Amino acid sequence: MKVGEKVLDLLFPPKCPFCQRILEDPRAPLCPVCRPRLPWLTGEAGERKVDFADGCFSPLAYRDGVPEAIRRYKFSRVRALGKPFAQLMAQCLTDRMPQRADLICWAPLARKRLRERGFDQARRMAEEVGRLCAIPAVPLLEKRRHTRPQSELEEESARRANARGAYALLPGVDLMGKRVVLVDDVVTSGATLSECAGLLRMAGAERVWCLTLAQARRDGKTAAKKEENCWKK
Ligand SMILES: [Zn+2]
Repeated sequence: MKVGEKVLDLLFPPKCPFCQRILEDPRAPLCPVCRPRLPWLTGEAGERKVDFADGCFSPLAYRDGVPEAIRRYKFSRVRALGKPFAQLMAQCLTDRMPQRADLICWAPLARKRLRERGFDQARRMAEEVGRLCAIPAVPLLEKRRHTRPQSELEEESARRANARGAYALLPGVDLMGKRVVLVDDVVTSGATLSECAGLLRMAGAERVWCLTLAQARRDGKTAAKKEENCWKK
């Protein structure tokens, strides 16, 4: 651990992102109380079909304490909070990926939203997962227009229409023969990820795998519907 990180640990002792307890083991992503209680996804339950992608993997279901933990992270400026999430995602990727990827990228926020929030949580997750898995994280996409929160739209067709044309490849992106991981925080209908995955394919990507921290029910209905409404915009 670097000296700077040690100082940060003293000032902001690492906490469990799900219950806020200070972690006895500062390198653990979460506390031993939450670990057995979280809605882990195993086997096929942790995969979702996303058009243009070769797989979409998520370690957790978007319910119980997960929506609140993600919301807390998204509206906090403390960068270190994203690390435990990235650790869980990196483990999921290592467990589930059939092949090694060449690059990791993310579904970006629109510029306006980025200015309001101050950081792009998907970008941070991708960069941290990339660091942990030794895969270079590179910006490949941009969000060109504001979209309504996907969680406000019930119908899958409405979600697809909402995401359509919202993203574009950055100028000069050439992915010929590359295997790419695409990161986002949550997958619901998969409309955003398939829109982005399609663009990566158009740029020549040989394989595209999606990786999210959590997987929400496809119909978007959860007990935490209200919280979902502040989801990625
Ligand atoms: Zn905990």
